[in-house]
Amino acid sequence: MPYAYDDQNIFAKILRGEIPNDTVTETEHTLAFRDIEPQAPVHVLVIPKGPYVCHDHFAAEASEAEIVDFMRVTARICASEGVSPSEGGQGFRVIGNAGEDAVQEVPHYHLHILGGRPLGRMLQKG
Ligand code: 5GP
Repeated sequence: MPYAYDDQNIFAKILRGEIPNDTVTETEHTLAFRDIEPQAPVHVLVIPKGPYVCHDHFAAEASEAEIVDFMRVTARICASEGVSPSEGGQGFRVIGNAGEDAVQEVPHYHLHILGGRPLGRMLQKG
């Protein structure tokens, strides 16, 4: 079944300026802002400005310009937030939740960039 984008989701409202956000950086195709309930000292959400529901939707249907911009923004944030090992940081985790099993709460594609503390193993068993 093709993805259907709901333009009433909270990130769509942030993109329209209807809800404030703590912006980290913004480009033509991408917005990054701090998570309202941070799970780590660094917790930045990176979202494309286009109407994509989740990772495979974005990866399959976004333009190359959107995808490249999105990925480059994530790299710049890892550097500017001081978590990139390439810049002497202690590391980070990128998480993209999709759908029910992954407990995706907001149906607008986003990556979480988490860091600034030891993050433990990727998943708990069960
Ligand atoms: P998901 O579970 O969909 O991967 O993650 C959604 C994330 O969005 C959560 O970490 C949640 O704290 C964050 N979030 C939900 N509503 C808002 C909001 O209005 N502003 C910001 N900055 N983050 C939000």
